[in-house]
Amino acid sequence: MNSKQYFDKAQSIIPGGVNSPVRAFRSVGLTPPFIEKAQGANIWDVDGNCYIDYVCSWGPAILGHAHPQVVQAICETAQKGTSFGAPCPLEITLAEMICEAVPSIEMVRMVSSGTEAVMSAIRVARGFTGRELVVKFEGCYHGHADGMLVKAGSGVLTLGEPDSAGVPKGVAACTLTLPYNDEQQLAQLFEKMGEQIAAVIIEPIAGNMGVVPPNIAFLQRLRTLTTQYSSVLIFDEVISGFRAAYGGAQAYYGITPDLTTLGKIIGGGLPVGAYGGKKAIMQCVAPLGAVYQAGTLSGNPVAMAAGIKTLSLLRDQPEIYQKLAQSAVFLTDAYAKAAKENGIALQINRVGGVFSVFFTDQPVTDYESAKTSDTARFEEYFKGMLARGIYLAPSQFEAVFLSDAHTQQQLEQTAQAIYDTFKEII
Ligand SMILES: *Cc1c(COP(=O)(O)O)cnc(C)c1O
Repeated sequence: MNSKQYFDKAQSIIPGGVNSPVRAFRSVGLTPPFIEKAQGANIWDVDGNCYIDYVCSWGPAILGHAHPQVVQAICETAQKGTSFGAPCPLEITLAEMICEAVPSIEMVRMVSSGTEAVMSAIRVARGFTGRELVVKFEGCYHGHADGMLVKAGSGVLTLGEPDSAGVPKGVAACTLTLPYNDEQQLAQLFEKMGEQIAAVIIEPIAGNMGVVPPNIAFLQRLRTLTTQYSSVLIFDEVISGFRAAYGGAQAYYGITPDLTTLGKIIGGGLPVGAYGGKKAIMQCVAPLGAVYQAGTLSGNPVAMAAGIKTLSLLRDQPEIYQKLAQSAVFLTDAYAKAAKENGIALQINRVGGVFSVFFTDQPVTDYESAKTSDTARFEEYFKGMLARGIYLAPSQFEAVFLSDAHTQQQLEQTAQAIYDTFKEII
């Protein structure tokens, strides 16, 4: 069967034919390739096409796909049983590695996805503070828990409204949404409601509206205000953790949150999430404290083994982060040159090895400015790149994910594809 046939069949038994919406390729008007295998920086579809992969499973494949040592760790561990429903030593090893890498995490609890990590961190923040309101920022994604699928009300100080069918109004009303990087509105909100705010959650480097770097003064103000009002500051580092730097965005910027949520990379390609932070807060979690949170497959040994091997390879080769940044610079230079020579309006946002390009002539600093992007042009660009063997995230509002496995030759091939595609679409 080819991808089209698989997709037809999938659509009859899986909603939209996919188990996560972005995979359906709707925003680029195509049928998604069904993937047969991946190795290093390459991914092959069932139709026999080979692509250079810049999705990297949306982040986890930072060492490249099917890294031999990670695969070996998975196989060896699986032979000893895939799940016990009882504590195992590997959980302690991964917890220790996380606490060592991210010093603000004094205690950590494993879960099975980023969504679960966020949902649980918010519950703990509420339990710890005895308050209910949570603040998030427009354009940041924090998984699909009810309280995070919320859009701003009609004014800064109005309560949130559901951004998905099925989210109760009452739940949405507990979440306030502010523009990213807007210090003034943040200060205004705290002045009015600071004493009711349990937590502020933020992607310290936004990655889910495309990459949008934080204004450092804004992050510092956020830290100061949350401290002043005793609200819990949660950094959602599900993407940036172990990617922006080994210690995440908090190490990169030197700003310390109270709680951190992790996912993606820490599972080495298996389903893992984690939340952790200050001992005083994490001690509220059951069975130690009164905030309930549990998971049948949490701390799963096979997933722990994949995470431990991935993190230890990253820890022992700090030069990987330099390489990711160099690769990102190589590609962003290629984008800048191709845009200039072909007269295409393009904004490039990059932090270390993480970047996005936006088809707009306005600097992208928040969701409002990200939305000025020409998504029709993105669609043409996406199709041109795919046809040239470059597999990108199928949306303007996503990051380009690099891995240690991307070779110079692959980067050069990509640069050529960028140039040729830009030339084709003007
Ligand atoms: C991917 C992501 C999540 C959700 O993680 P899942 O494992 O998909 O549930 C949460 N927060 C951020 C910042 C993410 O990028």
